[in-house]
Amino acid sequence: MIACLKLTVKFICFIIPMSILLCSCQSPTNVENSSPLEPLRKTHIMMGTSVTITLYDYDDPNILDYAFEKIRQLESALSLNKSNTLLDKVNQQAGLSPVVVNQDFFNVVERGLYYSILTNGAFDVTIGPLVKLWNIGFSDARVPSEQEIDNILPLINYNNITLDATNNTIFLKNPNMKLDLGSIAKGYAADQIAELLRFHGVEHAIIDLGGNVYTLGSKLDGTSWKVGIQDPYNPRGAIIGHIPVSNKSIVTSGIYERFLKVDDASYHHILNPKDGYPYSNDIVSVTIISDYSVDGDALSTAVFSMGIEQGLNFVESLDGIEAIFISTDNVLYLTDGIKNDFTLSNDNFKLSSK
Ligand code: FAD
Ligand code: MG
Repeated sequence: MIACLKLTVKFICFIIPMSILLCSCQSPTNVENSSPLEPLRKTHIMMGTSVTITLYDYDDPNILDYAFEKIRQLESALSLNKSNTLLDKVNQQAGLSPVVVNQDFFNVVERGLYYSILTNGAFDVTIGPLVKLWNIGFSDARVPSEQEIDNILPLINYNNITLDATNNTIFLKNPNMKLDLGSIAKGYAADQIAELLRFHGVEHAIIDLGGNVYTLGSKLDGTSWKVGIQDPYNPRGAIIGHIPVSNKSIVTSGIYERFLKVDDASYHHILNPKDGYPYSNDIVSVTIISDYSVDGDALSTAVFSMGIEQGLNFVESLDGIEAIFISTDNVLYLTDGIKNDFTLSNDNFKLSSK
C-alpha cells in the first residue's frame, strides 16, 4: 500500500508548538503607549503551506495584505508546482536560451547556487528532474525505477547554470534540466516580508511560512521570543524544548516532514543528487538558526545531507549560524554558540555530552 503524507500535515505539526510558545510568551501590552493592543494575525495557504504573519505592535491590517501580496508574487515566480511561472519558463528554455528574470528570482537562484557550490553539490538547485520523478508530497508520488533514476541523474549539475547579473538572465545549459527552489524559496520570502514589515515601522512580529519562522525584533517587553523545536515523533504541538531568539530565522528540515510510505519502507523528500535516493543517515531533523532565513532554509536542507558529525563541523565553520540536530537515537547535538541557551523539556530526548 502506498501512503503519501501531504505537506500540510507537517506544517500543522510544526507551526502549532511554535505558536503556543510564541503566543503564550508575548505581552499583550504595546510598549510605546502602554495601551492594550491585540496582535494582528492573518493566515493564508501559500507555497503549499500555511503562512501566518502576526504583528504585535501595529494596528493597520493593510500591512498584512501587502505582505501576503508579496508572497503571492514570489510564489507565482518561484513555484515548480504551478504552470506559467517564471521558473517554468526558465526550465522550458533549458538548452535553448537565457531567460530574463526579476531581481527576486535572480537573488534566490544566486544564493541557491552559492550553497550548491559550498556543499559540492550535496545541495543542488538543479535537483528539479529528480524531485519531479519522485513527486513526494503529491498524490502520484512513487518509487522510480533504477533506469529512470539513471536517466535523469546526469541532468543534475549546478555547474550548468549560467547567471548573468548584467542582463539579469539565467540559462540552464542542458535540455531537460530543471531548477527546483523548494529548499530555499520560503526562506527568501520570510526575509522579504521581514524587510517589508520593518520598512513600514513594525518592530515586533512573527513570520511563519509553515515552520520556516522569522522572529522580528523581540517580544513587546523586550525579552526574546521562545521558539519551540518540534518533537519529530509527535504531531501537533509536541515540542522537545525551546530556544530564545530575537531578529533570527529558525528553519527545520527533517525526515518526518514529507515522505512516501511503501509497505514498510519510508522515503523522505531530501534527495541525494549522486544516487537519486533520499539521504540516509543519523539525522531525524536539523534546525538552523541564522540572521537571514534564505541561509537557514538552504542550510537546513544542505546540512541534512551531511549527517551529524560532518554537519556539526560544517556549521561550526560558518559565521553567525547555529544548529540543533536530533539524531535517530533521540540525542540532541547543539553547536557551541547555543549550548547554554537551549532548554530541553522532553524526557524522551537527551542532550549530547559532546
Ligand atoms: P526543505 O528541507 O527546505 O527542502 C526540501 C525540498 O528541497 C524538497 O522537497 C525538494 O523540493 C528540494 N530538494 C530535495 N533534495 C534536495 C537537494 N539535494 N538539494 C537541493 N534541494 C533539494 N507544496 C505542495 O504540496 N503544493 C504546492 O502547490 C507547493 N507550492 C510551492 C511553491 C513554492 C514557491 C515553494 C517554495 C514551495 C511549494 N511547495 C508546495 C512546497 C515544496 O514542494 C517543498 O515541499 C517545500 O518547499 C519543502 O520545504 P521544506 O521546508 O519542507 O523542506
Ligand atoms: Mg530548506
